[in-house]
Amino acid sequence: MSFIDKLGDSIVSMSKDVGQKAKEASGIAKLKLDIRIKQEYVKEQYAQLGKVYYEAHKNEDVPEKQRFDKISDALDEIDRMELQILELKKARRCPNCGMEASEMAEFCSNCGAKLGVVVGESKAEDVTENDQPKEDVELEEEPDDNSEWL
Ligand SMILES: [Zn+2]
Repeated sequence: MSFIDKLGDSIVSMSKDVGQKAKEASGIAKLKLDIRIKQEYVKEQYAQLGKVYYEAHKNEDVPEKQRFDKISDALDEIDRMELQILELKKARRCPNCGMEASEMAEFCSNCGAKLGVVVGESKAEDVTENDQPKEDVELEEEPDDNSEWL
């Protein structure tokens, strides 16, 4: 066998090796991805199972009571923060369906329930307070001008 032939053979066997290794690598990567997908699925199922268990037993004196209380506290905190967001956005929730609605809206855009208009008390006060001082200043200046002419 000539040198060229030997070289040719080893290149062929080398590329076979590379091909095999690439196949193994992509096989491992695929398996790892499949494992991750299954792990996410199991995690989701555990979470749903935990929620069902929490809803069913949250008011009972179960061994997991401490964990239940932590979940209840966190849910309360979420409610409070969501209310804060509504206040900052000058919005509120429809009492019928829970949909977000503007403070100015008379009816819910989702279910049509009557919301009633919230009267902005602070805005009405601001307007009258701003108008009064201007009138006072004008009234005080006018007698001075007249006295100079007399
Ligand atoms: Zn509604």
